Amino acid sequence: MGESVQTTYDVIIVGGGPAGLCAALYSGRGMLNALLIERGLPGGELLNTDLIEDYIGFESVKGPELARLMTEHAKKFGAEVVMDTVEAIEQRPNGEFLVTTQLGKEYHAPAVILTAGGTPRKLGVPGEQEYAGRGVSYCAVCDGAFFKGEVLAVIGGGDAAVEEADYLTRYAEKVYIIHRRNELRASQILQDRAFKNPKIEFIWNKVVEEVEGEPRGVTRLKLNDTVSGEHSTLTVGGVFIFIGFTPNSGLIKGHFAHDASGYIVTDNHMMTSIPGLFAAGDLRVQLTRQITTAVGDATTAAIAVEKYLTDRAHQKAAPADEREAVASS
Ligand code: NAP
Repeated sequence: MGESVQTTYDVIIVGGGPAGLCAALYSGRGMLNALLIERGLPGGELLNTDLIEDYIGFESVKGPELARLMTEHAKKFGAEVVMDTVEAIEQRPNGEFLVTTQLGKEYHAPAVILTAGGTPRKLGVPGEQEYAGRGVSYCAVCDGAFFKGEVLAVIGGGDAAVEEADYLTRYAEKVYIIHRRNELRASQILQDRAFKNPKIEFIWNKVVEEVEGEPRGVTRLKLNDTVSGEHSTLTVGGVFIFIGFTPNSGLIKGHFAHDASGYIVTDNHMMTSIPGLFAAGDLRVQLTRQITTAVGDATTAAIAVEKYLTDRAHQKAAPADEREAVASS
């Protein structure tokens, strides 16, 4: 991955997770001149996931391994991948997009597929930011090994919290899953696994009020019972927060349709309310956010882009044809 020499493309794909890589593959196969811009290594959330057991065809595959396979596959079909951070996506009066990056590059294309996923949501409590990297983490695969023999807390009740808590028991002596309700949102198979794990204990109906610590790191959590209102403390060596994602839709300059949390509304071609701007994967309004749904969205988006560009070329050509027809009659 390096710097791109070219600056004008048929389509620019923003984000290199499963959706972005799949969009790059289909764009390449569709003979489109595509650029994929990713701020880190391609793979997105796959790089933060240990084992994947629900991607059809792969009974069990390591996240980073699937990321590597997807990247190689996308590149095989000619995708150009650059490492840079997109700062803004803006539609110009002629309908084309200008994509600007942190490295000061300006890329142009008549279509953009936004697959930038989300950023881990923060609790927003005192101590969270102060102890980030010193006991507060948002990635079990990245940081779990630093907590050998510790007692840890995982916050959240969704798939990520329950799955990552299970992963953390490889290193930790004990993992508390602290959930604000008395019922998990996570899928049944993940719940069953966690309930069977002797190192996991659930703390129901509690939210974190404060993360406390010493200069070396986190030492305890202040909790509040969501039913009784009672306050308590829990001694832990670290806290992993998995309370969902905030979609990275803020890159779009201008108005676009979204829900109350900022997830992007698309039509069934994955086109947003801005003509030529498509969205795929975790940042789109949808029932669930799986690798399978991300690559499904991306497939539709890439094929829809081909159709969009063809229609656009015909529309541009039409007035000239009509003029010719009038002149020769
Ligand atoms: P999620 O499904 O949105 O779950 C977030 C959890 O955090 C919920 O249990 C929620 O509680 C809780 N929460 C939210 N704000 C909170 C706060 N301020 N304080 C305390 N708790 C809070 O998010 P996710 O687990 O990151 O998953 C995101 C998407 O990725 C989902 O569609 C999920 O299915 C998918 N995913 C799938 C897999 C897999 O299939 N293996 C793995 C990871 C993620 P409530 O339940 O009370 O709302």
